[in-house]
Amino acid sequence: MDIKAKIYEWIDAHEREYVEDVKRLVAVKSVKGPAEPGKPYGPGPAAALAAAAEMCEGYGFSVKNYENHAVTADMNACEPGVDILAHMDVVGEGDGWDTDPYVATEKDGILYGRGTSDDKGPAVAALYAMRALKELGVPLTKNVRLILGADEESGSQDMVYYYSKEKPAPGTFSPDAAFPIFNTEKGRYAPFFKKAWETETVLPRVKTFDGGIVVNILPADASAVVAGVAAADVEAVCAKLAEELKVGYTVAAEGEDVKVSVKGVGCHASMPALGVNGITALITILAALPLADCDSTKAILGLNKLFPHGDGEGKAMGVAMKDELSGPLTMALTVFHINENGADGAIDCRASVCATEENCRQVGDKNLTDAGFEVKSFMNPPHHTPADTPFVQALLSAYEEVTGEKGGCYSMGGGTYVHGIEGGVAFGAGFMGFDGGAHGANEKMKISDMIKATKVYAMSIYNICK
Ligand SMILES: [Zn+2]
Repeated sequence: MDIKAKIYEWIDAHEREYVEDVKRLVAVKSVKGPAEPGKPYGPGPAAALAAAAEMCEGYGFSVKNYENHAVTADMNACEPGVDILAHMDVVGEGDGWDTDPYVATEKDGILYGRGTSDDKGPAVAALYAMRALKELGVPLTKNVRLILGADEESGSQDMVYYYSKEKPAPGTFSPDAAFPIFNTEKGRYAPFFKKAWETETVLPRVKTFDGGIVVNILPADASAVVAGVAAADVEAVCAKLAEELKVGYTVAAEGEDVKVSVKGVGCHASMPALGVNGITALITILAALPLADCDSTKAILGLNKLFPHGDGEGKAMGVAMKDELSGPLTMALTVFHINENGADGAIDCRASVCATEENCRQVGDKNLTDAGFEVKSFMNPPHHTPADTPFVQALLSAYEEVTGEKGGCYSMGGGTYVHGIEGGVAFGAGFMGFDGGAHGANEKMKISDMIKATKVYAMSIYNICK
């Protein structure tokens, strides 16, 4: 029997153990909390690192805890070969679950639970790939290090800490996306804007506006309270525009004022074309009302001009651009609030590889400033690893060998752990066509897919470290 057949057989034979280990980790609610002494991300992520460390140690790997920022498991004491970056923290469970999010539940070959696809299931797949090679005694000449972080979902400070102590291996992949390979991650332009004013008295005017909570989610919902208008007039504007804007709406009297709410479709901010932005829809509606000339009205009209509903590529902001490697820049107004004394908001922009300070940040900042806002912004460079490196080619050939599918390199708007790590790529563990529903209710993974992913990882390690 050749080594490949032995590896496949070992992985198939350990499917139940794999599932049980994922269940053990899902049971640890590893949502970030306030820092405690020795637990920089609170007790949950630290408990998950401890459970993972015990698991890795139990399988004979040499384990090190980096002050509860991350835990590593080393395959052997050889020179560095591959680092595998996965994470043990999860986002909060939210509403709408059909099962207990922290009791991983199997049904028809699918495992449901928070972290099953992001990222505990994939992390354990990588661990089992290492386990297979170790228990089969496959000789390797380079080390494989599994690095399990505790802060991926809230800013990846864990990796800042880890890489302040350690150098990256010659090759790094992160099983925290989908197959085949994502070798390009867009950059980020992130403007935050605000404007203050004296309490206004003129009528009609917008007294409050509420849309969006976090910058990386395009919000479905937005609502506003308007003073000095008749509910029937607001209703008429909504009735005229709702279909074109693709939103539902409600208009209701609130004391002497009128409250108008819209409902679009939420999505990740890096793919604005998949959603219907509640904020820009409501701004369009408000801009069609006969509002008095005042600061709140100026803010609304200014944003209406810069973020016309449906423009997800920064065209009106003058930053639309695209390139071969990463496709079009995306931009969405994802947070906007008005109260009696001012307005503030935030914009999510995934900048193409060709974006620069000059053609992106300076243009965007100037447009917002010209609209009367005070702007603070930052820009992060994109990440790109050439597709023709021996490391990437070794991963692709393992993927093609195991799945029988043609591999390839893709670009994404989101960023992973490998952003900024030279030569790093995101590699699995999801397969196209199955949505694990990361961050949502009923997050899930297909067990047969994860077994296949485990084989891809084992063959990758074998290709690189034999
Ligand atoms: Zn993740």
